[in-house]
Amino acid sequence: MTPMTDSADIPRPRPSILDIEPYVPGESHVPGVAKVFKLASNESPLGPSPEAVEAMRRAVMGVTEYPDGTAQDLRAAIAERHGLNPDNIVCGNGSDELLTLLAQAYLSPGDEAIHTEHGFLVYPIAIRAAGGVPVVAREENLTASVDAILEKVSPRTKLVYLANPNNPTGTYLPIDELKRLRTELPPRVLLVIDAAYAEYVRRNDYEAGIELVSSSDNVVMTRTFSKAYGLAGMRIGWMYAPAHVVDIINRIRGPFNVSAVALAAGAAAMHDVAHLQKAVEHNERWRDWLARELSALGLEVTPSVANFLLVHFPDEEGKRAEDADAFLKSRGLILRRVGGYGFPNALRVSMGTEEANRLLVDSLREFLERS
Ligand SMILES: *Cc1c(COP(=O)(O)O)cnc(C)c1O
Repeated sequence: MTPMTDSADIPRPRPSILDIEPYVPGESHVPGVAKVFKLASNESPLGPSPEAVEAMRRAVMGVTEYPDGTAQDLRAAIAERHGLNPDNIVCGNGSDELLTLLAQAYLSPGDEAIHTEHGFLVYPIAIRAAGGVPVVAREENLTASVDAILEKVSPRTKLVYLANPNNPTGTYLPIDELKRLRTELPPRVLLVIDAAYAEYVRRNDYEAGIELVSSSDNVVMTRTFSKAYGLAGMRIGWMYAPAHVVDIINRIRGPFNVSAVALAAGAAAMHDVAHLQKAVEHNERWRDWLARELSALGLEVTPSVANFLLVHFPDEEGKRAEDADAFLKSRGLILRRVGGYGFPNALRVSMGTEEANRLLVDSLREFLERS
């Protein structure tokens, strides 16, 4: 293929697309290491519900036919579990698809969309792909700041993306702050609350945003089956939104954007509350343990309410994040480099199985003690 040059007479994309830094997914292999623990993509160490696995097996037999393009059964399962009106739900090929469609629908070229300093990297990609301009709001204490977001609102602002809790920091805004943001944002600005990790959060002052959506015309919430439900490979997400937003997204999404196997998996997973509970409990136990153990080793750990920890390394020759990353890889542990998120000297680690978590602490102890 010919690389794009200024002079070549070739088809040209929307100019803002050339400003996109392609998303770099977490790694999953280490050459020469047989047993690998992937702690790089916030997947569930418990895997999916056995009921979801069984539902997928059955659904495979039916793939000659197109899936239900309205995702009726999946929306009904979600609605029942969360006490929602199914008419206000749209399902997507992962929540990434919905985040992208929202930008496609609500941004015109030159429009601005705000995300926070260490926000999820899918946002600037979605914004630029739509011809929009990403505007970055600073954070305070590695946490989103409502005041900083509001300061960035201009006459061209159409969208605000807020991951709550955020990836890769694991920090969150209490519901009172979200309400204040909604109240002070101009009603023409769509507030997108990305609650990909909501299932994991057990704080009295946290809410995923359901009530906020129900009581507003300009708030949507996105959710995913990729994290606590252990179904990242199936690509299933959903959005809860006012009817007018549902109508818009339904016009532009692919008519069969969620596969038949994914629809079956999602509905079955929604019904298996016990499995979700197990995943959340495993996470809570090991996140607190890991945060304590890593702090005891002298590493700085950002307090997290999600299923991962942001671990900061010393600014010392041989002890930096990239050194730790190489060392851990040799032990079969794959963590996430987060330089692209503004953390050149940190690694993000997802909660793993007990074996992986213990191996991580032992390996990091060895790494820090070696001279
Ligand atoms: C993992 C993640 C998602 C989920 O993406 P899917 O497309 O549903 O797999 C969304 N937002 C954030 C912040 C995430 O970390």
